[in-house]
Amino acid sequence: MSTLFLRTLRDDPADAEVPSHRLLVRGGYVRRVAPGIYTWLPLGLLVLRNVERVVREEMAAIGSQEVLFPALIPREIFEASGRWADYGDSLFRLTDRKDVDYLLGPTHEELFTLLVKGEYSSYKDYPLSLYQIQTKFRDEARPRAGVLRGREFIMKDSYSFDLSEEGLQASYRAHRDAYERIFGRLGFDYRIVFAVSGAMGGSASEEFLAPTPSGEDTFVQCTNCDYAANTEAVEIATPPAQDAAAVPASVVLDTPDTPTIATLVESLNGYDWAAAGVAEPPTFTAADTLKNVVLRTKAPGGEWELLVVGVPGDREVDMKRLAGQLEPVLVEQAGPDDLAREPGLVKGYIGPQLLSELKVRYLVDPLVVEGSAWVTGANAEDKHAAFVVRGRDFTPDGEIGAVEIRDGDRCARCDAPLQIARGIELGHVFALGRKYAETFGLTALGPDGKPVTITMGSYGVGITRAVAALAEQTHDESGLCWPREAAPADVQLVPTGKDAATLAEAERLAGELVASGIRVLLDDRKASPGVKFADAELLGVPTILILGRGLSDGLVELRDRKSGERRDVPLAEAVSEVRAAIAG
Ligand code: ATP
Ligand code: MG
Repeated sequence: MSTLFLRTLRDDPADAEVPSHRLLVRGGYVRRVAPGIYTWLPLGLLVLRNVERVVREEMAAIGSQEVLFPALIPREIFEASGRWADYGDSLFRLTDRKDVDYLLGPTHEELFTLLVKGEYSSYKDYPLSLYQIQTKFRDEARPRAGVLRGREFIMKDSYSFDLSEEGLQASYRAHRDAYERIFGRLGFDYRIVFAVSGAMGGSASEEFLAPTPSGEDTFVQCTNCDYAANTEAVEIATPPAQDAAAVPASVVLDTPDTPTIATLVESLNGYDWAAAGVAEPPTFTAADTLKNVVLRTKAPGGEWELLVVGVPGDREVDMKRLAGQLEPVLVEQAGPDDLAREPGLVKGYIGPQLLSELKVRYLVDPLVVEGSAWVTGANAEDKHAAFVVRGRDFTPDGEIGAVEIRDGDRCARCDAPLQIARGIELGHVFALGRKYAETFGLTALGPDGKPVTITMGSYGVGITRAVAALAEQTHDESGLCWPREAAPADVQLVPTGKDAATLAEAERLAGELVASGIRVLLDDRKASPGVKFADAELLGVPTILILGRGLSDGLVELRDRKSGERRDVPLAEAVSEVRAAIAG
């Protein structure tokens, strides 16, 4: 370590929001160049290369072959797939000296498809799986948390090419299994969750998430069965349809001064129901009100159109969840201009009774079940309507999972309570289908001489992100705590004595360990034992071997970084003890 290019820091970097960022900077693993742009220092690069090694080994094991594409891509290739426009501000665009447009690749579906099209033409060539480990560029709106969300980052992206649906399913399965081995070997605690496919369109789609409180992704897991989904894809149990036979006819109520759902509920429970002709009114809660939220949607190439979404009044609309389901159609809150174009919509008093007449598209959350009765707007200033029944007083155009999921919502599979947790997306497996093959005309000549369009899968792992996610999941209050496969070294040797003999013994032992194939970090710096111990904890090498006072009795101290367990072992057995620690 006296010659290692390393400076550990005592203080946290000012911009560090999460532990992994703090510790990777303090431990001298990475250094920031600009927002979302980082340099990897020797120790950091060792961890990064370990992640890559595990990924390469497991990709090879499923027969995927490595290639390497350029990051610099001509505009027309992304123009052909529509992503030059679709990627919007997240795409880094640049121009060459001849004024020709280029981009820096955010992912490489287009190039993989074109490459295979250029080389292969017969059904006999398939199936095929290719991957690369390469630097990607995305001008993320919020580069965050160090290398967790970078603007330049390393990704493993692979693609499978199959002739049939069954072939794609097998390729998808093989990748999913490989990912389980990759994240298992690297020492992750991970969950596989259902996901929606996002900007790429397609069917089967799952994410590998590392649960951690600082994760940006919210997901839902069942407390009973193995169902897990990200909040965009989650489905929750809904109550059974209701019989509305006993529900009174709907009535319009005067409800002045009820700007919020709380004030509306208060007014309902103090209402003169007898005067409204209702003999036995129920006690109302916010969950009995139907909130109608005005949004606008835009299909690719289309115009903005109004969409009203109805949810129980005690719930919020989850825009991310809606966006995930409507993709590639865009959705956002409607503005005053949108509302002004539809005078029939009375802000704050919108009720579904009128929407079909206005020809405004109306979708309800599945919690608004057939036969359920609601208090909702009466489409006039200061007026609400009660006992408005789905299927009797209004019929929505369809259903869409729109409510923000809560802890305790029920699992759609087994009805047990669901739990909300946060995680970091490590990887994504996704049955892409024929979208890119159709766009670029990737076909194979079948045995009957007819062309077959290839069906593809796309599979990503965030390599740089994995390093930070691992740090995030495994650190403790003293520092990093690398799992064995990812660690920059197997053992850190810490000679504490000031005498030359201790250092000489440490060097001899280091040589012996290296000779038996063990990766050693030797702290031969002229620093105090306190500094050396603190740095050993901070750097997080899994096994620490201390050569100190006990050396005169032929003893060294073996410490386990993770458990903190420490014991003296005879110097003569140090190598076999370290080997045993590595074997676990
Ligand atoms: P996110 O939702 O986190 O932005 P994504 O859905 O855009 O991710 P993909 O396009 O599926 O991600 O990319 C594959 C993998 O690349 C992700 O699972 C993630 O691990 C990694 N990744 C994506 N964006 C970044 C980034 N900005 N920095 C580091 N890694 C990233
Ligand atoms: Mg992204």
